[in-house]
This record gives sequence, structure tokens and C-alpha cells, in this order.
Amino acid sequence: MLETYSRLAAQALRDEPPTETQARWILDGDDVALLPLLHAAYVPRERHFGRKVMVHVLNNVQNGLCPEDCGYCAQNRDSKAAIRKYAMKSDDEIFAAAEVAARAGATRYCMVLSGRSPTLDRTKKLADLVRGVKSRWPIEVCISVGFIDDDQARILAEAGLDRLNHNLNTSEEHYGAICSTHGYADRVNTILTAKRHGIQSCSGIILGMGETSADVVELALRLRELEVPSIPVNFLIPIEGNRVVVDGSLTPERCLRALALMRLVNPRAEIRAAGGREGHLRALGALALWPANSLFVDGYLTTRGDATRETYRMIRDAGFEIDGNPACDREAFDGEKTGDFRLPGDPDSLLRPDVARSTRGVG
Ligand code: SF4
Repeated sequence: MLETYSRLAAQALRDEPPTETQARWILDGDDVALLPLLHAAYVPRERHFGRKVMVHVLNNVQNGLCPEDCGYCAQNRDSKAAIRKYAMKSDDEIFAAAEVAARAGATRYCMVLSGRSPTLDRTKKLADLVRGVKSRWPIEVCISVGFIDDDQARILAEAGLDRLNHNLNTSEEHYGAICSTHGYADRVNTILTAKRHGIQSCSGIILGMGETSADVVELALRLRELEVPSIPVNFLIPIEGNRVVVDGSLTPERCLRALALMRLVNPRAEIRAAGGREGHLRALGALALWPANSLFVDGYLTTRGDATRETYRMIRDAGFEIDGNPACDREAFDGEKTGDFRLPGDPDSLLRPDVARSTRGVG
């Protein structure tokens, strides 16, 4: 049986994706043993990234007010989610958040703007922000701005933009179930446009939106075909008021199998255990680091996530290291010394309230 896993790892080292049958087995096989599968995915991860973990910090630079209807997104035009809508943040706010990300040792700072596509003026403004961040701190910059054409891509490439995020989210066949205002081909076009201009693309999936395993396999293979170098694997966060809410398929094991599949299909790509990892992977969160070599810290666009210190502690406890930037304030984030004891909640109360002796009136 272990031969099956060794074969998958060997294929990945040769840059050969799993066959369709192997891919479906990884997601659905009754006889899959999780730890050997994760180890098979770890083999190419280790070859290409060692034990390093890249860390991304998101800044939701413009929230809500979007004319599109992506059903999973709290910023979509029809969502009833209780979010605060705001136009683009000021330069000062954007630079201040970039500094926080750089000092936290993040590999990349991701500025995300809601909307279908930026105007040319907005694109030039974003180009200035990219230059501004990169001239101040040694951190890579990624933006997510919807669709871009050649003119917009040229402006952003000239500014030194490292990456453009534009998720495919699901398979071509399932796309109509999550969005009606644009199509899958529009998204593929933007990835190809960025690529033509030398901007790396970051494009991934959201799991838990009613997709089948065949959809997941199709998307993993499509991302490989598009040679996407950065793949976020998101796990849908259920937000009240959105049309598409989590479909109940996401056990921690399903999430880990999907991460392993994404790594084995795309052995050289940066695979990110992205939005929703905390809530869906739960106690198995650290196991994501075997297939994935990248994480977000400090939450997502509209929802909370684990804080930087907590995530760094998980990375170190699992025996991995943070692939940060030189501006990192090491002392602030080096965390507990080996052997330190930590309990969530009030640090002054170790005893359970039902066994603690009252100290009122003592002394
Ligand atoms: S995912 Fe982007 S394009 Fe779609 S509704 Fe949300 S902000 Fe708008």
C-alpha cells in the first residue's frame, strides 16, 4: 500500500501530475491513509521549498460596493452581510498597514480592492502605491483588483508589481452556480494577460461551494495548465447574508486531501492554506504545512483569522520556519521559548473556575 504513496511522490518529483484516477482516489478513496498521503505531498514541497513557510498579510483596501454577484463574497451587490462598505483607503493607511506587515516578517503584502475592474486612473494610483510600498520596505506586493487588460497590466508591471491575484475559484462547469455577472473565461483571460506582461499570477480555489470532486480535480489541472505559480486553497467561510454558504462537505480531512492533491498536481507552485483554514481544519491545522508552504496571517478580507503570533507559533511547533523579510521585528515575533506553557484565555487563571478556591476575603 505504501507503494501507492511513494509512486505519487515520485511522479511529483518528475513533475508528472497524478492521473485522473489517482486524483479522484486522493480526494475520495475509502482506503486513503491521511498521514502517508500528506507525506507524499510533502516530498515535492520539501524539494522545492524546504521547510520554509511564506506568510501573506491582506489589506482590504476597498470594501463592498461591488457590481458583481459572486455568491460567496460578502462584498457582492446582492449580499445582505453586515459589512461596513468603504471606498479606497488613504495612502497613509495603506502604507501604515504595509509597514505592519513588513515588521511582522510577511513575505508578501496583498492589497485587495472590490470591484469588477479598475479604471485607468485607478490603475495608475495603484501603480504609485506599489512603487511606494516597494521603495519603503523589502516586501513583495500583490494586488487583487478584478479584471485587467493589456494597458492596465503594462502600467502595473512597470511599477514592479510582483503578483496579481485573480482566483478561478471553481471549475468551468460549476462557475455558473456561483456567479452570473461574469464567466470563467473572463477570469482565465486576466490570468493570461498578467502572464503576458511578466506579472506572476496568484489564482486558486474556494472549496465547499457545492462543487464535486471532479470539479476540484478539473481546477487543479487547469491551474497547472496555466502554469500558475501561486495557488491559494480557500475553504468557504460561512457568512450570513451571502447566497452561497458552506455546503457541509468540508471536514478537516477533506481540506487536507484537497491540499495534498493541489501539491501533487502542481509540485512547484506555492500552495497556500488560505481563507477559512482555522475554522475548517480545526485541530489539524498544522498538518496543512506538509502539502502547503504558505499561509495568511491576521485574518481575511471580511472575517477574522488567527493572529500573527499564534500562526508563527504553530509553524515553529510543527518544525517549519518562517520565510520572512529582512525588516522583520524578530524580537516581537520570536514567541515563547522552548518549553513555555500556554493556554488560551486569561493568562492569570490556570485553574478551572469550578475547582478554584475562592480567594475573596483571604488575607
Ligand atoms: S469576489 Fe470580487 S468581483 Fe466578486 S463580488 Fe467579491 S469583490 Fe466583487
